[in-house]
Amino acid sequence: MDNLKAVIIGAGMGGLTTGIALRQAGYAVEIYDRVSELRPAGAAISLWSNGVKVLNRLGLGKDIARIGGQMDRMTYYNSAGEKLTDFSLSPLIETVGQRPYPVARTDLQQMLLEAFGVDQVQLNSKCVAVEQDADSATAIFADGRRVTGDLIVAADGTHSILREYVLGHSVERQYVGYVNWNGLVPASADLAPQNSWVLYVGEHKRASLMPVAGDRFYFFLDVPLPKGSPSTPETYREELAGHFQGWAPAVQTLIQRLDPLKTNRVEIHDIEPLQTWVKGRVALLGDAGHSTAPDLGQGGCQAMEDALVLSNYLATTNLSVADALKRYEAARKDRAADVVLKAHKRSDMTHGKDPEKTQQWYEELKFEDGSNIMQAICNTILAGPLN
Ligand SMILES: Cc1cc2nc3c(=O)[nH]c(=O)nc-3n(C[C@H](O)[C@H](O)[C@H](O)COP(=O)(O)OP(=O)(O)OC[C@H]3O[C@@H](n4cnc5c(N)ncnc54)[C@H](O)[C@@H]3O)c2cc1C
Repeated sequence: MDNLKAVIIGAGMGGLTTGIALRQAGYAVEIYDRVSELRPAGAAISLWSNGVKVLNRLGLGKDIARIGGQMDRMTYYNSAGEKLTDFSLSPLIETVGQRPYPVARTDLQQMLLEAFGVDQVQLNSKCVAVEQDADSATAIFADGRRVTGDLIVAADGTHSILREYVLGHSVERQYVGYVNWNGLVPASADLAPQNSWVLYVGEHKRASLMPVAGDRFYFFLDVPLPKGSPSTPETYREELAGHFQGWAPAVQTLIQRLDPLKTNRVEIHDIEPLQTWVKGRVALLGDAGHSTAPDLGQGGCQAMEDALVLSNYLATTNLSVADALKRYEAARKDRAADVVLKAHKRSDMTHGKDPEKTQQWYEELKFEDGSNIMQAICNTILAGPLN
């Protein structure tokens, strides 16, 4: 379809990637975000090869390689610091055709913003409603502004307000059962090698370190806790020292070295897979359409896959905008549902929902040569649109 104008609500990684893809398809694109300054929530993410391939397709391959960490190996330790398994990720990279990149969120957002146009995201624009008729769709903002286009992409995140418009009812986010602390620390050899993803597992908890650009590690620490457990940044260090008491020296060093005021604490939620993503000229994209536990590191990657598939249907089919959006929904919803369900299952397994199964997994890790872990990751990557 020619000469379309797309209005995108939300300048997270989903909205920005969609904006870049639709621009490249020749469309007029406007992106609106409610914040006055774009600052991504969270420290870093692992962008698996399916997400990286979308960026390659959009001409951003060199840029992501520049800001991505070099993750050549993966190592699991138990809580005492005994090595359970350690293997090269080369077979995975060779199978899927692209290395994954752990990346600081601010670096990723800056890269996407530069590709879209730093001054071209319209800030202080909180969308409160949408309307549509046979020819157009209109976003309505809190200050009364109205912006009309051929379609609206609702990339307004896991707390999306446009989701209710599309579904006709609200949905509850469900607590997955654990709290995740994450942040960045300077890389150093007493924490982990700079080319490995290192994980410590035990007592249904996890501590993880991954390299990102700028000689830093992205760390996270997971602890199963009741929802709403009291906590403040001032007490993070003491709390974590308690949760990880007796764990290996590197975990103790990490807890001492993290900056509590720059550490994020997130109660992990997801949303049961949705059957509907589209209403006429309005499409959900990214976390607005599928909120997943981060246990596969796939939420952002799925948003990028959404962006590619949405822009492909708009550019290659020409019955109508609503028809292209329905094709997008049909192509994406089972894929994203699969990721959400698998991530939830994996979270249950690693975080002790059934303690016997978690114990069995700890035992299996001692005999793992990497092939089962890499096969599972490859399966997820290769089920994407760029396989
Ligand atoms: C602890 C944790 C670890 C994760 N790790 C990974 C990982 O390793 N790999 C991975 O791929 N994914 C990971 N994810 C998931 C990833 O962060 C999300 O899937 C991704 O950020 C979703 O992008 P999005 O653009 O859909 O939403 P968001 O990034 O949430 O962006 C939504 C944007 O919409 C704006 N907005 C919201 N409401 C409105 C409104 N009404 N009007 C205007 N603007 C609005 C917001 O300000 C925001 O800028 C992780 C998530 C968590 C919580």
